[in-house]
Amino acid sequence: MKHNFFAGPAILPKEVLAKAGESAHLVPEEGLSILEMSHRGSFITNVMDQAVQTCKELLNVPDNYAILFLTGGASSQFYMTPMNILGTDQTAAYIDTGTWSTKAIKEAKLFGKVDVVASSADKNFNYIPTLGNIDGSKYRYLHYTSNNTIFGTQFADTPETDARLVCDMSSDIFSRPVDVSKHDIIYCGAQKNMGPAGTVLVIIKKDIVNKIDRVIPTMLNYETHIKKDSSFNTPPVFPIYVSMLTMQWVKSQGGVDAMAKMNAEKGKILYDELDRNALFKANVPEGSRSLMNVTFLLNDDSKNSAFLEMCDAANIVGIKGHRSVGGFRASIYNAMPKSSIEVLIDVMKEFERTHG
Ligand SMILES: *Cc1c(COP(=O)(O)O)cnc(C)c1O
Repeated sequence: MKHNFFAGPAILPKEVLAKAGESAHLVPEEGLSILEMSHRGSFITNVMDQAVQTCKELLNVPDNYAILFLTGGASSQFYMTPMNILGTDQTAAYIDTGTWSTKAIKEAKLFGKVDVVASSADKNFNYIPTLGNIDGSKYRYLHYTSNNTIFGTQFADTPETDARLVCDMSSDIFSRPVDVSKHDIIYCGAQKNMGPAGTVLVIIKKDIVNKIDRVIPTMLNYETHIKKDSSFNTPPVFPIYVSMLTMQWVKSQGGVDAMAKMNAEKGKILYDELDRNALFKANVPEGSRSLMNVTFLLNDDSKNSAFLEMCDAANIVGIKGHRSVGGFRASIYNAMPKSSIEVLIDVMKEFERTHG
């Protein structure tokens, strides 16, 4: 068995994979595979309801929000959000914490004005910038990326502001509690911490749609999907089903509070080793460190391939860093057991003995 540290698509709970595999083969009570059922039939409409209800329960989503499962990934939300809620003459504030926020900024500029109100570009995005006092009333919304999957940074808390908030929560949804009521839109691609690739979860305050003067294609209009419970057209049934199973798994583990506790423990042992081991260093300073994606470097990068070989021998996969940071990245999402992180830590200690 491999220890799966890939950033996304990423590790899923074993029980979820087993159940998904069974249902892909046959759902006994229906006599069909889940892959060959109508999305209008009761089995699938029940899956959709369960997915919505479980999400609602896990995150305490208030009743005035809709919970949607759409396609196009988080990347489509980069344009769908401004297309739907940012008027041509309005301004949105963005916090730029690298790659994903940078892409979101580029798309927003197609629809309205954008102020980058905080950025960590000066240090290759290795920290979470502080948000100064901004006049929230000047902005249609403030967009932030709660966890930057590539650079390994994470907001410790929801930004303090009176602006409406839009958040890309792709890589830390369900990893900790979040106050949904402070946000107008939260979106996340499934394939980091929620399920397989193929669906994007959008939690949206219902009354923010239809407020600007723009013609929006039917499929790109949030209102379409709110009115039709994500079934205006054929939804991505299987990714939603697996996401539902994963959310039920989170619930069975004690919900997002229990996840937060586990993730804090898991992150701590790995960062402690990085701070202790003289051969390695964490890429991100304390205060901005992600509990989902731990980015780190060897002080002597000529040893990189030797370390990767040792990881490989220990059945560790997906540990190579993203090209924009270099070094290594350990993605330790909800489904990652502490025991796999301990295997990685043992390899780091062994490397210190053999290559120090
Ligand atoms: C992976 C990722 C995305 C892009 O998701 P897609 O579903 O591939 O479009 C966007 N934002 C963050 C934070 C991500 O980690």
